[in-house]
Amino acid sequence: MAEASSLQDLNSRVVACERCPRLRAYCAEVASVRRRAYADWEYWGRPVPSFGDEQARVLILGLAPGAHGSNRTGRPFTGDGSGEFLYPVLHETGFASQPKAVSRDDHMKLTSLWITAVVRCAPPANKPTPEELRNCAPWLDEEIGLLRDLRVVVCLGKIAFDGLLAWAVRTGRLNLRTGCAFSHGAEFTLPGGLSVLASYHPSLQNTNTGRLTRPMFLEIFRRARRLADLGLEGMKG
Ligand code: SF4
Repeated sequence: MAEASSLQDLNSRVVACERCPRLRAYCAEVASVRRRAYADWEYWGRPVPSFGDEQARVLILGLAPGAHGSNRTGRPFTGDGSGEFLYPVLHETGFASQPKAVSRDDHMKLTSLWITAVVRCAPPANKPTPEELRNCAPWLDEEIGLLRDLRVVVCLGKIAFDGLLAWAVRTGRLNLRTGCAFSHGAEFTLPGGLSVLASYHPSLQNTNTGRLTRPMFLEIFRRARRLADLGLEGMKG
């Protein structure tokens, strides 16, 4: 039998994580009560493993699973409104094999892209506590360390952006977070060469109100593609 890769091994350990009692209880309750529209679904109900191409040059860093999205389907941005906005853009920019993400069995493949989140269990009201963010941070540290080809991180929303800056401080790439303010389209390069791009989160709250439009989001991923390819040209040279 083939050995599990380090990223697969990490995902297996994440799925069994119990560090946040409040989140574990909430996810289990949502999975047991269910939304009427999904009454026939066997909810995932556990920490959501990351998803993508292990040779990814681009990482999407999200906030947390949606209670009836990833917490139901077991895959990031799969089965909810955020995913319905995200995956067509990933498909158009060549990162995703198809525009629709409905379940773990829908044959979606990502190319040069890995998707993760700063918190891997659905939080009530989409609001993890500072302690829960800290509990989940070691998973991100390990994961980024395993993504050996990584060149670009796209942070979806301010909490993800802050999470990435906290990672940069923890790992010695930055001394202080000051000077890196969140705004849609903000971009900078960390010492060592990793590019960071900030975007509004594709939540229904942002996409239904026009705060985040499809052209704005497309431009983020076109820019991510260019930055990832620039790194490739640099390596070839
Ligand atoms: S949020 Fe992260 S640290 Fe907390 S239980 Fe879930 S996987 Fe574990």
